[in-house]
Amino acid sequence: MSSDRRNDPENTSILLERIQTLESQLEEIRLQTNVLLDIARTLNASLDPRVIAANIISAIASLISIDQASVCLYNEKTQDFEVIGVFDSRTIYPQMPPNLDLSFLARVLSEGVTYYCSPGNRTQDWEWICCLPLQNAQHKTGTINIHAIRQAEITPEQMQFLETVAGHATSALENALLYAIVERESITDGLTGVYNHRYFQKRLHEYISLCQRHKRSVTFGLLMIDVDNFKQFNDRFGHQFGDTVLQIIVRELRNNLREEDLIARYGGEEFAILIPEATQKIVLFISEKIREVVEKTQVYNQITGMNVSVTVSIGVTLWRSTDTPASVIMRADHALYEAKTTGRNQSIFR
Ligand code: GH3
Ligand code: MG
Ligand code: MG
Repeated sequence: MSSDRRNDPENTSILLERIQTLESQLEEIRLQTNVLLDIARTLNASLDPRVIAANIISAIASLISIDQASVCLYNEKTQDFEVIGVFDSRTIYPQMPPNLDLSFLARVLSEGVTYYCSPGNRTQDWEWICCLPLQNAQHKTGTINIHAIRQAEITPEQMQFLETVAGHATSALENALLYAIVERESITDGLTGVYNHRYFQKRLHEYISLCQRHKRSVTFGLLMIDVDNFKQFNDRFGHQFGDTVLQIIVRELRNNLREEDLIARYGGEEFAILIPEATQKIVLFISEKIREVVEKTQVYNQITGMNVSVTVSIGVTLWRSTDTPASVIMRADHALYEAKTTGRNQSIFR
């Protein structure tokens, strides 16, 4: 009897049809898996959050007809959102839609659940259609926001896809943010936040190659700053207070230099500053300004109840076309040594 059914041509065609359906479903799953693998690969190929954001948006646009979307990063310390990627199919220069309520994103992140409101149910123009939290067990990283779509609504399959993309996006952004932290830490000094000695050396080499490539006689200034009698100062007021003073000196250096000047902690209580496109007059002017500001800066010492200050000696020089990194540093060092041995609290140019 059963063998009869198996041989029944009608049954065979039903089975064949079923096999075909299953095969085409399998093919679709295979395609989707490949798309997701591609997306994961693309997202993880970059360590630049803005590039990742752009890739997140193109991944979504490849599946859903979106008109407006954005990717935001969340700063857990300041509790602020930063828009790092925007897509707007209607303009050349995409912008965040105006009147967007960013506090809404904080709510989505704190709940940790995708928000979805189909376009038909929107009551306000600026309302989000879909907002996906980017987070894992450790961090709340940001959100993917879809503001406008061209289709009636997002299907459950598309939503599943969006959530998978959000998962990949979270790890890609987390990696990028961690990398940025490690990279920043590897070039900065922990106490003062300025660049460290290693990074200073790297940039000095770069400055020199840049000047050597230039046809015109471009140069840069180098300042070596050393705190006067700092050992004595520490002995008197304590090492911790000495640390505070070093931080305050850096604050004053930052306040009195331009963005393009490079400040580095060269060693213990010694700082090096590179001043691009300088002349003798300019570097000496800057050096004296720094020296005066440090001398005038009073720091309150709680233990003694006194306002105290330190002075600095500064060796100043300009890079010459025959200089190597070592020779220009040596000249600034000699100038600093001269400033120390002839009275301290002064700038000497050599
Ligand atoms: P000079 O005017 O000749 O430079 O005298 P000085 O005492 O500053 O020079 P010296 O090289 O003898 O001593 C440097 C002092 O700087 C000793 C050290 O304790 C202090 N110092 C170096 N790094 C730090 C730091 O990170 N924090 C603090 N508080 N002190 C530091
Ligand atoms: Mg010193
Ligand atoms: Mg020193």
